[in-house]
Formats: sequence, structure tokens, C-alpha cells
Amino acid sequence: MRLSDFKGIFKTSKVEFISAVNIDEDYYVISLKKPECLMWRPGEHAIFTLPGNKVAGKKYRAFSIASTPEEDVILLGTRTGKDVSSFKQNLINMKQGELVKLRGPFGWFTLQDSNSPVVFIGLGVGVTPFRALLKSFDQQENRNLEFIYSSSNVFLFKDEINKIVEQNDKFNMFYTRTIEETNDAISESARKYVNKAFYYIGGSQKAIKSITKLLKMNGIKSKKIINDPFLGY
Ligand SMILES: Cc1cc2nc3c(=O)[nH]c(=O)nc-3n(C[C@H](O)[C@H](O)[C@H](O)COP(=O)(O)OP(=O)(O)OC[C@H]3O[C@@H](n4cnc5c(N)ncnc54)[C@H](O)[C@@H]3O)c2cc1C
Repeated sequence: MRLSDFKGIFKTSKVEFISAVNIDEDYYVISLKKPECLMWRPGEHAIFTLPGNKVAGKKYRAFSIASTPEEDVILLGTRTGKDVSSFKQNLINMKQGELVKLRGPFGWFTLQDSNSPVVFIGLGVGVTPFRALLKSFDQQENRNLEFIYSSSNVFLFKDEINKIVEQNDKFNMFYTRTIEETNDAISESARKYVNKAFYYIGGSQKAIKSITKLLKMNGIKSKKIINDPFLGY
């Protein structure tokens, strides 16, 4: 983490809500209109509030941005869970044109350089920032990528991810469902790349903690591990 990762924290914007699409089960993709001047680095997140809505309890949530600025839309991916919070209840029921306020984007879950191999470990809805990171690679991307995507049920953005991965011989995709399968795939990648790669983990704090431990057991140094902790899951 560098001080410059927080540069965007002082910027606030009001953006128009476009839609909330229920993809499957309790998974939603939210689209917001991107103001022309708003830029971010793939992998960053922002803090969102809903100024025109009466939200009970905590009034803000952090969400990673699933799109790149070039896509001209702010895409978010989320799960509501069974007991839908007042914030998410309001968010998924917003009408087109209503305003959402965001602080940022900012963050540290970004590419560290332009050539090191990367191992992406996306856990459930924690896959969201990886869509943006993957979209930022062009077809000539010359680095190796291992993408381990684990979910017990829904694989958000699966078709888009497959399309990008299939276009590059250096990209390998692993879909896993159980902790054992996920850990095996992670250990294999760690043995393959050791400290030549950067390891990105997106998921709940608990899962990040256990995977960080696994990576360290495999000899990976802390400075090679980058986390996006989805606090609240
Ligand atoms: C850097 C960052 C990026 C993130 N990116 C994303 C993202 O892309 N997508 C995403 O969905 N989330 C993301 N999050 C997490 C997000 O900010 C929310 O915390 C999360 O989505 C849960 O929000 P919620 O409204 O569903 O639950 P909340 O209301 O915030 O509740 C959080 C947890 O507490 C429990 N809880 C709530 N009220 C009670 C109560 N009264 N008693 C007991 N338990 C209670 C809930 O069941 C839930 O498990 C990110 C967080 C960070 C820090």
C-alpha cells in the first residue's frame, strides 16, 4: 500500500443509477452512469451512499468497481444475502436516473507492474475487481496469469472472463467449488511461480487470512500478496 493509493479518497461524485440486474440467486450487477471526467485504475473501489433514500443503519458501503473507465459505465457486483440490508434493499430498487454518491475511486488492489506473472484468487463475489483487472489486459498481454475462481454456487461474470482467458495462451483458468480444490490450485500456482508472481486475493476477511497463511507456508513473501478484503461477508 502506498500513500498514492489513497489519492482519490478526497474526490466525490454524484452518478446516475442505470439498473440492478439479478443475475442468479442473490447476486446482482449494478450499472451506474460514468461521468466523463471520472477515472480509476482497474481494481480500485469506492465508498457509496444513496442520498435520496432513507437507509436504516450504516449509510455507506464500499464496492469494488468491476468495469474499466474505457467501458463508460460503473459496474458493481454484489450479493444481498438472505436478510437484505436496508442499504442494499434501497440500492437494488432504485429507479433509472436517481443519484448515487461515491467517494473515490481509490485503492491498492491494482497491477504492481507491467510484466510480472499474476495469480488471481477470486472468492465468491470477491471476483468483482478481477473483472476490471482482466479487462485492462489487451490481447498482446505478455505475462502469465493463473486465475483461480472459487464459488460454491454462482460464478459471476463467468462468460466474460472465459472469453478473455481463451484469447491468450498465457492465461490459465481454474474454477473450483471446495476449499480443498481451491487450496490445491493455489499451492500449485505458488510452487510454479514462487516469488516471481504477485498474488491477488479478493474475498471475505476470513478467507483472505487463511489463503495468506497458505501462501506463506508455500514460501510466498508478504510483499507479493495483495488483498481486497470484502469486510462485511
Ligand atoms: C475494499 C472493499 C471492497 C468491497 N467490495 C465489495 C464488492 O465489490 N461487492 C460487495 O458486495 N461487497 C463489497 N465489499 C463489502 C461491502 O462494503 C459490504 O460490507 C458487504 O457487501 C455487506 O453489506 P450488506 O449491506 O449486505 O451487509 P451489512 O449490513 O453491512 O452487514 C455486514 C454483516 O453483518 C451482519 N449483520 C448486519 N446486521 C447485523 C445484526 N444486527 N446482527 C448481527 N449481524 C448483523 C450481516 O449479516 C452481514 O454478514 C467491499 C468491502 C471493502 C472494504
